[in-house]
Amino acid sequence: MGIVGFRGLIGGTGIQGGQLALQWLGLGNELAGAINHASLLVASPKDHVMIDVGPRYKETFQFLYIPIIVVRNIVITHMHWDHVGGLAELALYNKVAPKILPREDAQYLGRDKRLTLIAPPDLTDLLSKHVESDGFIATAADEDINFRTLFNTVPMEPVEGAPSVAYRCKTPDGLRLVFFKTKHLAVSYGVIINERVAYTSDTPYDPELITAVVEGKFTEGNKPQLLYHDCATDGGQIPGHATFEQLKELPVEIREKIVLTHYGDNYAELSAEVYEKKLFRGFASRNKEVC
Ligand SMILES: [Zn+2]
Repeated sequence: MGIVGFRGLIGGTGIQGGQLALQWLGLGNELAGAINHASLLVASPKDHVMIDVGPRYKETFQFLYIPIIVVRNIVITHMHWDHVGGLAELALYNKVAPKILPREDAQYLGRDKRLTLIAPPDLTDLLSKHVESDGFIATAADEDINFRTLFNTVPMEPVEGAPSVAYRCKTPDGLRLVFFKTKHLAVSYGVIINERVAYTSDTPYDPELITAVVEGKFTEGNKPQLLYHDCATDGGQIPGHATFEQLKELPVEIREKIVLTHYGDNYAELSAEVYEKKLFRGFASRNKEVC
């Protein structure tokens, strides 16, 4: 798609060189209230991805005045509801959008009305079953609505020599993505964008994995500058997540790259500790960032 469609994503960021614009759409865990479910929009001047689509994805788009239709490429990290619950609805919306949108908005759809769905092979299999069994799709009157007519996919290849399971691919207009497997679920991944920005998505505390990501072991020695890390602020009551207390154990050279995300509604109680003691770069926010 042309650059016009990105105005809402990168407008006013002064993005230059190889920089990426980063916009969190939601910030919270599965029980999040107003902070909504963690979801990240990443854009270069040429292409973009939206990482995860929770069931309340529309709320933030309205709040930020970004038309949903500019989002063409979706990354899904795992099958939990707070990360995938809005995917089928979003796909169906795109399918019917040309009929319901004003013409100037419909142009954002570009050459292909389908969304591009980007995930490693084992996760794509699960996504295909999920989408076709979703109520939005299963009850659609149009027989032509199925995984293949709703989504494009991209070629995905294993990362040779990576310390654990990893895949790489490119978005249609050239963002480079590396998926690294995490231990949150049997099939769950973090993602690195343009060797520059990494996001664990949901993960238990796994210092070995995080060290490998930060040291560029998945990206041919290129070290990401910024790491968004899952951070449970409930003291570990919900299993499968790294807690704030655990993350404090990481060495300072890793912590100074970490921005905490996927936290609970109580996260502000920890602000003083995070910022005054400079334990981490900070909490993810809805302010647009450039890296
Ligand atoms: Zn989650």
